[in-house]
Amino acid sequence: MIWNNNKECMSREQMRALQGKRLHKLVEYVYHNTPFYRNKLQEMNITPDDIQTIDDITKLPFTTKQDLRDNYPFGLQAAPQSEIIRIHASSGTTGNPTIVGYTRKDIGVWSECMARCLTSFGITREDIVSVAYGYGLFTGGLGVHYGVENLGAAVVPASTGGTEKHVRLLRDLGITGVACTPSYALHLAETMEKMGITKEQIKLKVAAMGAEPWTESMRKEIEERLGLKAYNIYGLSEIMGPCVSYECSEQNGSHINEDHFYPEIIDPETLQPLSYGQQGELVFTTLTKVGMPLLRYRTRDLTTLQPGDSCSCGRTSVKMGKICGRSDDMLIIRGINVFPSQVESVILSIPECAPRFLLIVERIDNMDKLTVQVEMRAEYFAQGFDTFEPVFKLEKQVSEKLKSVLSISAKVEIKQPGTLERSEGKSKFVIDKRVLK
Ligand code: ADP
Ligand code: ZN
Repeated sequence: MIWNNNKECMSREQMRALQGKRLHKLVEYVYHNTPFYRNKLQEMNITPDDIQTIDDITKLPFTTKQDLRDNYPFGLQAAPQSEIIRIHASSGTTGNPTIVGYTRKDIGVWSECMARCLTSFGITREDIVSVAYGYGLFTGGLGVHYGVENLGAAVVPASTGGTEKHVRLLRDLGITGVACTPSYALHLAETMEKMGITKEQIKLKVAAMGAEPWTESMRKEIEERLGLKAYNIYGLSEIMGPCVSYECSEQNGSHINEDHFYPEIIDPETLQPLSYGQQGELVFTTLTKVGMPLLRYRTRDLTTLQPGDSCSCGRTSVKMGKICGRSDDMLIIRGINVFPSQVESVILSIPECAPRFLLIVERIDNMDKLTVQVEMRAEYFAQGFDTFEPVFKLEKQVSEKLKSVLSISAKVEIKQPGTLERSEGKSKFVIDKRVLK
């Protein structure tokens, strides 16, 4: 089933014409409303009139998370504050989060795109959908929530945690759809089994899985253990939140809502555009966003783009492949973005800690677990800090501070000076033991 035939099944010529028109309007809008972009465009000698077709997009500057950080909190907001009706935040690379303000129109577009995703997964007004993404500053919970309501199905705002209660709700309410991270879906299956509840006792038929990378064998396992079909949904706060792209019945690549989010793939080193099938960094331009529109935002997610107009579902929009890595050192832990630099900033702010630390990420019972090992400074160690009580206090202090910055809990282990080995992993501060099979 298709939610918006007009937009999801447009001919390629019509789509490109619409994108060109919207891009011109967007550039005009940011030129007049975002000093950051006006300055950039003026430096590059570009005026809105230089942008007439979608192919002109390559003339425009890129935007990075660093730009958002440098202009924290509202520097890239184009709409006046009186027009903003919601504010979300996602992890920044260090202390400050990335702030995204939405106007009423933005929330409408988001809910429209979410309804397209959910319809593509086979959800209708008859369904009851539980949302087990975190509600709060993250876009997952409220984003999917509004989409379910817009579609007209019933939403159960289960949020994360309280897994046993969630399982009972699945059974007692006859919930037919669930939205959560793929690892949480496996955790649900495990909890169900522990509680002695079989998949025949629940009515789940669809799972909307996103916020973290997953594999075909995880899909198979989720589908078998919960007795449903599991579909990918992708998004990021800077662009909107979940709803940027979604799988269809083919379960092979995710169609992009490209009338709203224009995709490009670039080489992360040379920044040159790549063609269909070539793996590179995904870049999005928000064609219709009013609150905080972004030009050519570098997601750091690595994947490929493919034409989608021969897809058997009838949609014509471009498809993106699975996210197969990042061009930076961001980790996704329990669906939440974590940068090693955030941990570093916490450790540097605590005088007893030496600037030597190691992040260890594991997946135990399908739940991610983060351990942070930190060395104590030699001078404190020498002052009697080698006894149990002060070390315990320090661990607690680091752990509380980490929780407030990262929004997830971590186990902290204080180590004696000079004992931490550097790992050879993805980042020299990280050992990621998770293997996604
Ligand atoms: P979300 O709430 O969707 O996680 P964030 O802005 O916090 O939004 O994080 C966005 C990042 O999460 C993306 O850039 C990507 O790295 C990751 N992500 C989101 N959805 C998926 C998905 N379906 N598959 C793989 N990675 C995903
Ligand atoms: Zn399709």
